[in-house]
Amino acid sequence: MMDTTQMRTWAEISLDNLAHNYRTLRALTPRGCKFLGLVKANAYGHGAVPVAKKLEELGADMLAVACLDEAAQLRDAGVSLPILCLGQTPPELAAGLLEYDVTQAVPDLETGEALSAAAQAAGKTLTIHVKLDTGMTRLGFQWREGNEAAAADQIARLCALPGLEAEGMFTHFADADGSEEYTMLQFTRFLDAKQALENRGIRFKISHCAASAAVLSYPCTHMDMIRPGIVLYGYYPAPELEGLDGPGLLPVMEVKSRVYAVRDVPAGTCVSYGRTHTLERDSRLAVLPIGYGDGFPRLLSNRGQVLLYGRRCPIVGRVCMDMCMVDVTDLPQVRPGDVAIIYGQDGLLDEDAAIAGTIPYELLCDVGRRVPHVYLDSGK
Ligand SMILES: *Cc1c(COP(=O)(O)O)cnc(C)c1O
Repeated sequence: MMDTTQMRTWAEISLDNLAHNYRTLRALTPRGCKFLGLVKANAYGHGAVPVAKKLEELGADMLAVACLDEAAQLRDAGVSLPILCLGQTPPELAAGLLEYDVTQAVPDLETGEALSAAAQAAGKTLTIHVKLDTGMTRLGFQWREGNEAAAADQIARLCALPGLEAEGMFTHFADADGSEEYTMLQFTRFLDAKQALENRGIRFKISHCAASAAVLSYPCTHMDMIRPGIVLYGYYPAPELEGLDGPGLLPVMEVKSRVYAVRDVPAGTCVSYGRTHTLERDSRLAVLPIGYGDGFPRLLSNRGQVLLYGRRCPIVGRVCMDMCMVDVTDLPQVRPGDVAIIYGQDGLLDEDAAIAGTIPYELLCDVGRRVPHVYLDSGK
């Protein structure tokens, strides 16, 4: 079959922009601070394997994924960097962690005991990072006022289990793009825990807590390693954080769509499902082969915009599963086969996320199932 990659809708992934973002973020961290790149959820929709390989080539120290399957995919593709699995791995799958040489986050003693038993049974040592809940209220040993001694006891017992090597301890901020006060409360709890454990003779090689928002806003939290995700891909965890990093980040993904057809339609005609839009003037509509089946949110119906010839064209009518219509009445040069930019320039993704009532993270993750990815490295 002929190559159909760029005939409908596709995503261009610039590994050069990824490298730019990596270097920009590295420059914000002190010498000796390690760099963990988040490649969970198929690298935020960018393709886990090519992104992980590029990060390895660039000199990242570690990668993180959400589950064992994601780690196995990287190992099978030849990625050799340490990989931290952030989510829970059922004890039945512990052998897989050892086989694939994956570091596991451990959120409680029972999980640690099960993993310890599995590691001993396999005659191996499993590397773990202790997960502390300082206020995210998701997973982790709960470290809060009044509970410190009990939590420290549990963590000390975890670290003493045979078959486990506790290399790191980490926490995750709930509101680092919102409240400084809450973030500092969480950070103080983390430092208290670290100190309390050191007082018991337990030291971790790698303490870490800063995801993207804290990487940009709170250098004091960088510690031994930073853990950025969204900024690596060129987007900001919140619009207010834009511009904090000097040289600026570059979007890694550009989603493009090739115009199917251009049609002249008279005033008074209604467009798409539900007839939610009626043309007020004689119009030219371009039909684009992108819809919610490609991860393009239906909430952009009558509200989103795309770029054609550098100009913004409004979506008219409902976004369908496979197509949508945009108004190009003021752009007479548009022809079938022209390429529309859906995301990646001009702040379109941030705007679309706001219109859809979500965050750039979700829209990026959604570009995937049907959209082929094309990788550009050194401009090629
Ligand atoms: C997803 C995730 C990150 C990265 O978050 P960003 O906001 O994308 O930087 C860091 N740490 C943990 C534990 C995560 O789950």
